[in-house]
Amino acid sequence: MSVSTDPLEPPRLGEPYLLTPGPLTTSFAVKQAMLRDWGSWDDDFRAMTREIRRRLLALLGAGAEAFDCVPMQGSGSFAVEAMLGSFIPRDGKALVLANGAYGQRAAQTLRYLGRAHAVLDKGDYLPPRGAEVAQILAQDPAITHVVAVHCETSSGILNPVAEISEAAYAAGRKLLIDSMSAFGAIGLEPAQIRYEAMVSSANKCIEGVPGFGFVLARKAEIEAAEGNSHSLSLDVHAQWAALETTGQWRFTPPTHVAASFLEALRAHEAEGGVAARGARYARNRDVMVAGMRQLGFETLLDSRWLSPIIVTFFCPADRNFEFSRFYDLMKAKGFILYPGKLTVVDSFRIGCIGQMDEHVMRRVVAAAKETLAEMGVASAAPPAAALKERAKLAA
Ligand SMILES: *Cc1c(COP(=O)(O)O)cnc(C)c1O
Repeated sequence: MSVSTDPLEPPRLGEPYLLTPGPLTTSFAVKQAMLRDWGSWDDDFRAMTREIRRRLLALLGAGAEAFDCVPMQGSGSFAVEAMLGSFIPRDGKALVLANGAYGQRAAQTLRYLGRAHAVLDKGDYLPPRGAEVAQILAQDPAITHVVAVHCETSSGILNPVAEISEAAYAAGRKLLIDSMSAFGAIGLEPAQIRYEAMVSSANKCIEGVPGFGFVLARKAEIEAAEGNSHSLSLDVHAQWAALETTGQWRFTPPTHVAASFLEALRAHEAEGGVAARGARYARNRDVMVAGMRQLGFETLLDSRWLSPIIVTFFCPADRNFEFSRFYDLMKAKGFILYPGKLTVVDSFRIGCIGQMDEHVMRRVVAAAKETLAEMGVASAAPPAAALKERAKLAA
């Protein structure tokens, strides 16, 4: 068998493309990098951990010198919980900016941790704006930290983190960012946008497989976090201290995932880094959204809020449209879609991230067109209620 390592080859063995925000479609080279066992205490694995931390820090860009990188076992939510529990002191108070499932999950995490918090809940997809944040902070001096979601993956909205950061620091508070689905494709340079810590995970825009997350935080914040955490295994300071002194993760690391993630980081660099990765995803989005709009589909969000990560479409009003059937027929054509998460109207999502390019996105649109015909759906136009809902965004 000849093995091509072309980063954009199609998935093997008839695997469908995952048009989902992680786990996502990875390259063959990333999968292949898992075909070896590593001793977690061994120098070779310690060197890999060092390289992963170094490469992730470098992705921050200007201002990264003040930061350090702490990988954390588990899915992305474990890393979010580690960040919140380690950097918000027990007598601190957070303001969570929520406009979807991940903001809600951050608030739920704080409830579990017993950390005081307030929530600005913007509903399914309206962006939290700097002026609103400033107003809440002015009214509540107890708030010490603002928690923001960079790209809220439930709707695909790209939240305005720059103006949120300005509002937070103008009021003397600190910012923590869940950049899970954006990091690696959308810049978050500390020299441009001020914050104390951010988290992401292996299986999003770096295009690794799932198994760990990572915290990128100011060294001063990490040092000051000693004793804050409610949890032994999710203590960022303790994990960092072990990495610094022994070069090892504290508990069994996901060795195969780490090895493949390093391969993914090298491919990310070879592609041209954050700017090039973001440009490919933006092109994926533009080609896919233009094609879907041509079929009559409408996006939940106005173009200016559409992230290059994932896009929410309204389900067509046509009686013959049924999402589960649309899903099955698209899967049979090689594309796994993502159900929607809106509470008011039916929707579905198409991810733009992973090992795919605009040619794949053209095939996605062609498959959608064919599927609508198979289902007897004459028009992909959404119900009037959906458009009314969307009009709120412009208000
Ligand atoms: C993926 C994601 C997470 C983490 O989800 P897990 O299922 O725990 O990996 C957190 N926040 C955002 C914005 C995400 O996209």
